[in-house]
Amino acid sequence: MLLARIFTLYPEFFPGPLGKGLYGKALAEKIWKLETVNIRDYTIDKHKTVDDTTYGGGSGMLIKPDVLANSLDKNLSSREKIIYLSPKGKLFNQELAKELSREKTINLICGHFEGIDQRVIEARNIKEVSIGDFVLSGGESAAFVMLDAIIRLLPGVLGNEKSVEEESFENGLLEYPQYTKPQIWEEKTVPDVLLSGDHAKIKDWRLSQSEAITRDRRPDLWQKYKKN
Ligand code: SAH
Repeated sequence: MLLARIFTLYPEFFPGPLGKGLYGKALAEKIWKLETVNIRDYTIDKHKTVDDTTYGGGSGMLIKPDVLANSLDKNLSSREKIIYLSPKGKLFNQELAKELSREKTINLICGHFEGIDQRVIEARNIKEVSIGDFVLSGGESAAFVMLDAIIRLLPGVLGNEKSVEEESFENGLLEYPQYTKPQIWEEKTVPDVLLSGDHAKIKDWRLSQSEAITRDRRPDLWQKYKKN
């Protein structure tokens, strides 16, 4: 079972979309478990202050290191991975999703305002992970993205494990186009090869489509693929 522990100022956002459908079922089946920690419950002054102004000036506020550390220290056992969702972090990708899907516990810190104090990142050995080159208002939606990608890799979550192996990024390429019934729709037919029943030919066609799409849309992935 994977335990996802979320440190947030908005625990009511969770499980949100992750509580529905296959993921809700997987929650009920205890394939994964969700815990939310409300950072606000760990303030140490009577005004329950979670944020303060930044040293050196600037208009933004930061989550206080003492409060965040207190919330971590009261909830974590040692040696668990702690990730802070941050635009400055290492870019999240399928490989990291796979790596994290093998952990027992992942702790995700959702920032707000301008983020969190640098000292707590260092003092608690927190790894920063970004979901892309854009700035969100808070880490919650980023946590949803990461968990969505991770949970579907847990054994038993998706009906068809095979489908995971053939997806985009699995072999360093984007996925080939896919078709379902009806065979003719708005006068467009399905590529002949897919109706041929010739599995070797279908495999070749899919690979060449994957290659063409990747070359066209993602030169970065294409360069890597060609090297391997
Ligand atoms: N001042 C920060 C941005 C803060 S955005 C900077 O320039 O780096 C507020 C919060 O949203 C962050 O603390 C982080 O938790 C979350 N966030 C914003 N963009 C994100 C991204 N691309 N990936 C992951 N989390 C992000």
